[in-house]
Amino acid sequence: MKENFDFLMPSVNFFGAGVIKKIGQRAKMLNMTKVMIVTDKFLESVDNGPVKQTLASLDEAGVDYAVYNGVEPNPKIRNIQEAKKVYLENGCNGIITVGGGSAHDTGKGTGIILTNGDDITKLAGIETLENALPPLMAVNTTAGTGSELTRHCVITNQETHLKFVVVSWRNIPLVSFNDPMLMLDVPAKLTAATGMDTFVQAIEPYVSTNRNAITDAQCVGAIQLVESNLREAVANGHNVEARSNMVQAEMLGGMAFNNADLGYVHAMAHQLGGQYDAPHGVCCAILLPIVEEYNIVACPERFAELADIMGENTEGLSVRDAAQLSIKAMRQMADDVGIPRSIKEIGAKSEDFELMAENALKDGNAFSNPRKGTKQDIIDLFQKSYDAK
Ligand code: NAD
Repeated sequence: MKENFDFLMPSVNFFGAGVIKKIGQRAKMLNMTKVMIVTDKFLESVDNGPVKQTLASLDEAGVDYAVYNGVEPNPKIRNIQEAKKVYLENGCNGIITVGGGSAHDTGKGTGIILTNGDDITKLAGIETLENALPPLMAVNTTAGTGSELTRHCVITNQETHLKFVVVSWRNIPLVSFNDPMLMLDVPAKLTAATGMDTFVQAIEPYVSTNRNAITDAQCVGAIQLVESNLREAVANGHNVEARSNMVQAEMLGGMAFNNADLGYVHAMAHQLGGQYDAPHGVCCAILLPIVEEYNIVACPERFAELADIMGENTEGLSVRDAAQLSIKAMRQMADDVGIPRSIKEIGAKSEDFELMAENALKDGNAFSNPRKGTKQDIIDLFQKSYDAK
């Protein structure tokens, strides 16, 4: 538990059906006269989808725009360089990201290199940004990473396959939008992967060495919302209530890890994402029960509490047995929403584990993990995630 901390909150988040209609007015209030939309080709093509609705609102408010539609999953340095070119060529004075974590991180990364120097690899780490980004707003379409309100920008170096994080309060979008109606058509597989990311982003801060009472409350709220809504959102994507609850879970989780940080699940998932270009939520979900079982010894009572929070019956159990039940609940959730059990399924190869373990221990998320591991420990965890059936 941290005794002194800065507490970061998003400045404004509009939540609910139809809030996207407000974006044009907000752009005007931020003195944006020509914005760059950062998105991907699929989202741009959807009829009456998130991009079309954003553009309609901008048109209504008389705000001009240019579109960068080259965002890739696990966004690469090339994406932010391409987007910077679009921004400068079109004389833009603001950025609006439309999509999931990949769009938001591309927008943040573009803002970073527009005002803090072209080589973003030099800015990896915590609070490295000297200058403010151009005004940034985020329209979120997955539930989710929380990136629309976090200080994290996760980018992959396409040459080294290393995924790195620039963590700074300057990255937090000035205004973000979470309109669940934009998420009703997210396919089941993507709902499961992004929802499991939310689950992990509420569990890791709960056992983080940087947690505090405020983040604890956010984690509890997020975990309970995921427990009672993710299965339904996956099975019945058009259930507006389940979607709305998952969005609120992701916002709570985002605020929690913005302040309490994460752990080895994320530090290791970043290696899998960078190396194999695998979906982030799937990487996190596979690693979750294996890494947290390893962590139990550092804070068994926290894991016993997690079992209760997840709705397990711990009455009469020892702390150690109750803690073990939380791992069972994590695995059950992943199984129920169709996440594979082994990292083999995302193309992982044993010969890469040593280098990935070395890099995982350098990832910013590793430092708040409750148990301090050796390189061999991390190799063993990758191996266990590979052998899992
Ligand atoms: P994503 O943004 O990569 O999107 C995945 C796919 O979903 C894309 O093909 C996109 O077109 C599609 N999609 C998005 N919204 C949709 C919708 N409403 N309907 C249909 N399809 C839709 O997925 P993600 O999981 O949101 O983001 C993952 C990225 O975010 C990873 O790179 C991860 O490392 C990063 N991340 C960032 C933070 C942060 O705080 N910055 C936190 C966690 C993860």
